[in-house]
Amino acid sequence: MLLVDLREFARGPVETRAELAGDDPLFEGLGAALAGPVRVTGRLQAAGEARFYWRGSLDTIVATECRRCLRAVSVAVKAEIHALFTKDHDALEDPDSYPLAREATEIDLRPAVREELLLAVPQWGVLCRDDCRGLCPRCGRDLNAGPCGCASAVDHRWQELAAFKGKLRE
Ligand SMILES: [Zn+2]
Ligand SMILES: [Zn+2]
Repeated sequence: MLLVDLREFARGPVETRAELAGDDPLFEGLGAALAGPVRVTGRLQAAGEARFYWRGSLDTIVATECRRCLRAVSVAVKAEIHALFTKDHDALEDPDSYPLAREATEIDLRPAVREELLLAVPQWGVLCRDDCRGLCPRCGRDLNAGPCGCASAVDHRWQELAAFKGKLRE
């Protein structure tokens, strides 16, 4: 439940638990494909009329590709959530704070979920394994499957250049 009615705080802190589909519109434009749902848990606590602290965590699976050999790779992503929702707009300088309208009757936790996930997604690409040999930049063969027969000294230089160009594109 990621939409919390403020009246619920009359009974104390509110436990938050939700599962959002990986293709939920909330995650559009994230720059990463999600290969599983986003599970969210946490506890939302009122600190006066106008401030609500949310502590929780999220986890999901991001589908991406190895930056060297382009093989599909799934990466487990976890993030801690520390967010402040507030009607006190002076408190908004804190980057983890989210505005609530003065007349708000509920808190929408979803913007914080999106933000934390955005920060947790690997931005620079991942490797299928630390010693991935990548593709031969000449013949395109996956060098993890063995050498391809192109001159290896030349290969090595080109491979670094290709990796560098790949970085520029990212
Ligand atoms: Zn790889
Ligand atoms: Zn080759």
